[in-house]
Amino acid sequence: GYHRVLEENRKLYNQVQDLKGSIRVYCRVRPFLPGQANRFSTVDHIEEGNVTIITPSKYGKEGRRSFTFNKVFGPTASQEEVFSDTRPLIRSVLDGFNVCIFAYGQTGSGKTHTMSGPDELSEKSQGVNYRALNDLFLLSEQRKDSFCYDVSVQMIEIYNEQVRDLLVTDEIRNSSQKGLNVPDANVVPVVSTSDVLELMKLGQRNRAVGSTALNDRSSRSHSCLTVHVQGRDLTTGAVLRGCMHLVDLAGSERVDKSEVTGDRLKEAQHINRSLSALGDVISSLAQKNSHVPYRNSKLTQLLQDSLGGQAKTLMFVHISPEPDAVGETISTLKFAERVSTVELGAARVNKDGADVRELKEQIASLKAALARKE
Ligand code: ADP
Ligand code: MG
Repeated sequence: GYHRVLEENRKLYNQVQDLKGSIRVYCRVRPFLPGQANRFSTVDHIEEGNVTIITPSKYGKEGRRSFTFNKVFGPTASQEEVFSDTRPLIRSVLDGFNVCIFAYGQTGSGKTHTMSGPDELSEKSQGVNYRALNDLFLLSEQRKDSFCYDVSVQMIEIYNEQVRDLLVTDEIRNSSQKGLNVPDANVVPVVSTSDVLELMKLGQRNRAVGSTALNDRSSRSHSCLTVHVQGRDLTTGAVLRGCMHLVDLAGSERVDKSEVTGDRLKEAQHINRSLSALGDVISSLAQKNSHVPYRNSKLTQLLQDSLGGQAKTLMFVHISPEPDAVGETISTLKFAERVSTVELGAARVNKDGADVRELKEQIASLKAALARKE
């Protein structure tokens, strides 16, 4: 009975989100890295839509805490599985929707793995970015008798509130048009996945500039792949425009201000500010405020057209299984929960979500009490 309630709750939640056409939150748990097998994991329990974290007593009071999201992917989930639940969102870009997909989490939790894949890429290990574009091409091919689609991409990095174009070569500079939200960043037309792969490599190379072994800039900057789609209906001549942002956010870890100074402190402050600006925009959209503070950061300014209104948003929250990371894991999950439940503020479902969580906690503590008696 209890599991049914939980499952019903999750279904209802997903339906409401589809109706609203807005925010979904998927959680992904990173596996232990090779050589770390059989360690104690803080991720105690995963079932569809639910993840339970156990805080080992060494790190404060021992306890369990459960969080509910639209979907939870465990450490064995493949890139393909993760993408299959993202697919419908991507397809809606061809129907003229704006879409935004974020990867959120502390450094090392798997954001880049989800969006771009690991360093050594194979067809199977490709991330959301490549798969999304591949899907767009496949789908536009299927629709070619009724629509003609043009696809183009931009790739930028935001570091200390400065926007840097990652698609810069002499050739591209001379041949491309300019985009809207980032007027100075190149918009490059693409017609195949091999075009996309080449641009991604160029983006990677350009991104590496400015990083050193001690200064891994990629974890302290946001990177964004923007896909512009224009579709012309061949019978009516009507034109649809859709835009998709695929964002690998800077690491969300809190930096101990007493321990960093200078450049590091400045970076940390910029990251905190832009991630909280993102949270604020999402909250104020959810509350249907007349003023949405897009202009508080470069990140939210860039994403303005793809957050709110008819736009569809998906946040992948990433967590690591390591006990040392449990503090960050809990605060990441709390942020994600705020993003997902605030959204449902007016709906009854939100309350059910909280009730179910409470029930789960009660069950967990009853189980623990039983275990002690035995
Ligand atoms: P982040 O971008 O959040 O800093 P990364 O994506 O770079 O984290 O992941 C850190 C390490 O963990 C990398 O070596 C990456 O290949 C590995 N990793 C992350 N997620 C997974 C996963 N789902 N399966 C296997 N390895 C992963
Ligand atoms: Mg990364």
